[in-house]
Amino acid sequence: MDGCRSDRRASARSASVRVLFQRHIMPELPEVDHVACLLRRLVCGKRIASVSLYRDGLIRGLEPRRFESEVQGSHISAVDRRGKYILVYLSNGKTLIVHLRMTGSFVYGKRDWQDRQFTRLVFRFDDGSKLGYEDVRNLGVMKLAQTDRLSEVKELAELGPEPLSPEFTVDYLQNVLAQSRRSIKEFLLDQTKIAGLGNIYAAEALFRAGINPTKKAFSIARSKERLNKLHRSIYQTISGAIHSRGDAAIHFHLLDADGSIVSEGAGGERFFVYDREGEPCLVCGSKIRRIKQGARSTYYCPKCQR
Ligand SMILES: [Zn+2]
Repeated sequence: MDGCRSDRRASARSASVRVLFQRHIMPELPEVDHVACLLRRLVCGKRIASVSLYRDGLIRGLEPRRFESEVQGSHISAVDRRGKYILVYLSNGKTLIVHLRMTGSFVYGKRDWQDRQFTRLVFRFDDGSKLGYEDVRNLGVMKLAQTDRLSEVKELAELGPEPLSPEFTVDYLQNVLAQSRRSIKEFLLDQTKIAGLGNIYAAEALFRAGINPTKKAFSIARSKERLNKLHRSIYQTISGAIHSRGDAAIHFHLLDADGSIVSEGAGGERFFVYDREGEPCLVCGSKIRRIKQGARSTYYCPKCQR
């Protein structure tokens, strides 16, 4: 009995540690995609009646009052995503480029609510609804750019192809892999090669592909079988995570009428290897290992991944 109780306590403790830890996970393509979808559904077509920017430096190169006067009165005409960036298109010919980094999140409510502790930016719409941007550690960044010159914005211009796009072909992957002497894991994190993968989905894709994360990128390009498998695994990992809405819950909150958070966007994502050090591999039962690569943790199965 005692054993059961302490197991329960231990699992409750590890669950809360997990929640805390997850609050500092960088959103990747599937999470950002889900946040963009929610924004599209909730604020597209609305007119921005007023804006309040509370943090200097949140909008790169624009001081708060200038930003407020630039966007006030315009409509939100579309919301899109590129890599890990959210693109909020405005009717005034400008686009707000948003990167949530680790702790950025949006909060939306149909009615006004009292600004919460870490609110950095607020849009109030004509219909009385309100969208807030919160960021505990102020890591997120935004930029207001000319929509017709979006392709010239450095952050977007340097991005590699989207992993679910027609441009991401096996030939493309082979070509960029062949030129890289880095480990395959570090290669997958390079946004200029493939846009949107991060620490979680790079590890998951490598598990699906059965590739050890320490293998050199160019060595994968030499084996047609491993190359094809990696290409397919990246596609399946990302499309699967988009389908299950990723782990987006921490980056978007809906508020109900009394201002409390309604659970929305909760991801049903379960990982094969990510954050599972010491736990049994879901395929072979071996213990999942964690190693450091370029100052980041990599999780993998030493038996399934060669
Ligand atoms: Zn395994």
